Amino acid sequence: MPSPRPIVELPDELISQIAAGEVVERPASVVRELVDNALDAGASQVTVRLIEGGVRLIGVEDDGVGMGPADLVMAIRRHATSKIRSLHDLESVATMGFRGEALAAIASVSELTLSSRPAGVDHAHGLDARSGEIRPMARAQGTTVEVRELFYSTPARRQFLKSTATELAHCIEAVRRHALARPDVGFDIWHDGKLIEQWRAQGGQAAWDRRMSDVLGTGFLAESIALDAQVGAVRVRGRAGLPDHARARGDLQFAYVNGRYVRDKVIMHGVRSAYEDVLHGQRQPVYVLHLEVDPMRVDVNVHPTKIEVRFRDGREVHQAVHHAIEQALAQPRTGQPSPTDGTWPASGPGERRGLGSPAAAPQAAPWQQQRMPMGQAMTELQALWGRAGGLGVTEAEPLWRGPQASAPLGPRDTAPDQALSTPDDLPLGQALAQLHGVYILAQNTHGLVLVDMHAAHERIVYERLKQGAAQRNDSQQLLVPVSFAATETEVAIAQEHQNTLLELGLDVSPLGAKSLAVRSVPASLADSDVVALTRSVLGELAQWPASTVVERAHNELLATMACHAAVRANRSLTLGEMNALLRQMEATERADQCNHGRPTWRMLSMKELDALFLRGR
Ligand code: ADP
Ligand code: MG
Repeated sequence: MPSPRPIVELPDELISQIAAGEVVERPASVVRELVDNALDAGASQVTVRLIEGGVRLIGVEDDGVGMGPADLVMAIRRHATSKIRSLHDLESVATMGFRGEALAAIASVSELTLSSRPAGVDHAHGLDARSGEIRPMARAQGTTVEVRELFYSTPARRQFLKSTATELAHCIEAVRRHALARPDVGFDIWHDGKLIEQWRAQGGQAAWDRRMSDVLGTGFLAESIALDAQVGAVRVRGRAGLPDHARARGDLQFAYVNGRYVRDKVIMHGVRSAYEDVLHGQRQPVYVLHLEVDPMRVDVNVHPTKIEVRFRDGREVHQAVHHAIEQALAQPRTGQPSPTDGTWPASGPGERRGLGSPAAAPQAAPWQQQRMPMGQAMTELQALWGRAGGLGVTEAEPLWRGPQASAPLGPRDTAPDQALSTPDDLPLGQALAQLHGVYILAQNTHGLVLVDMHAAHERIVYERLKQGAAQRNDSQQLLVPVSFAATETEVAIAQEHQNTLLELGLDVSPLGAKSLAVRSVPASLADSDVVALTRSVLGELAQWPASTVVERAHNELLATMACHAAVRANRSLTLGEMNALLRQMEATERADQCNHGRPTWRMLSMKELDALFLRGR
């Protein structure tokens, strides 16, 4: 047995190197810490210079408050900070940094130099961290930190570094995260002597939007929706990507708590749950979310990199995020000239952090300001779907009714509401024809609208079912119970899940070992094929483990029912029916995607059509 070794205190240098392991993983971690410091110093312009992806050199230059010679020396000491003084300060910390360990940690694994000049002092001082030497030098107000030969003393770490391109990408990402939170600050990134990114400081109304399109690409605004919601003490602002523009990777997901970039499970789950209904498979939504939370209610001192936080009330945060996104996604976007032309109303700008001032609430889309002739849409709808649950529809009219087809509908189909007849009022336009029993072709003021009628109807039925389920009064007793021969499994499932089925409006009970009776169905599906409906619901139930969350189960069941009840492809619709469907889409939440996340409609603007035919070239 080895004899015990005496306990000794580790030397400072080694303590810092150990700490550095937590804070400094790669060049991008250094970039993050140095830009944090620049922003904490009140910089309005931050310049990042990198050589070889930051491995040779990382330089961060700012025009912030600067430091005098005495502070330069203190800055690189461990646990030395100007940002907090007490535990109380820590609880309400508003700066990015507060642990006072970044510069010490970085200095222990690199060659670090600082130069700085505070306001009102006529020259700057430079400090070489290794030698401790200080000398006067010329510099404008602000601070420059230069980090050379990262990990030169810890080859094991250096081995883990990836290619220059990869490290560079991580460094850019680190700056991008800051830039999205601070449109009021300009950011330049240089690599190997070339300016590779330049995000100019923005002010005024559209600062946030301009910064987002600078950093995330000009398409981002068009592909996302402004959101702004408050739940309890938590406010959420920003933009959520349209389901159409979800990505295979979660690389465009930015969440901030009080201006600090975080990766937080509660927030991510809140996002996921809000998209559940409209996103299929593993697609990743894009988003930029700024949460404002009372600093006393969030602990930022959870992890050395401060990328994780802990909320006092995680549920509230979850709800706020879920609600903000769900609300944004639920707005029908059918009034937009095109789903991708970038005219979405912008969220309001803020002050310095943008998080203190009330933003303009997201504006309603233009057509939402006009009153929807809802009554009429509903009447038409009742005439159509109410009668048959979307299945038994009258025989088809001729598809082509001549030139008047695009004019207001004939007396049979349209109530005498003239407001409706101007196509301007109709985001999805007037139906023209049906294509191969699958698509509805319609004309609106902007061009041609194509609607996948099954997908669209499925969403409408689904949303109605959800409403009905929420009210729990959606069930309709059948005059004559429908009985049918079932498998033993089906009977067992019906028994086991009787309550769930009842909550869904389906009253199913065994008649014997091998038969089931259905006594009531959801009112909106009263006229559909009861046996097929029940079978498909039982089939769904059979696939779930008992532990499945009930809410989710409900929605999936409802989706199954909706899919089942929605009008099938290859069914002829009259123009009146098509128009009723279009009007109902306009009035339905989340109508832009079917329950499986596929789009329900697309538009080809006149411009796009002209381009197809090379007109006007
Ligand atoms: P922290 O940011 O947690 O305080 P750091 O090690 O990052 O710890 O920095 C230590 C101190 O050095 C800071 O508290 C700040 O006073 C000073 N400092 C660092 N960078 C700058 C800068 N760019 N401008 C002005 N002061 C700085
Ligand atoms: Mg710091």
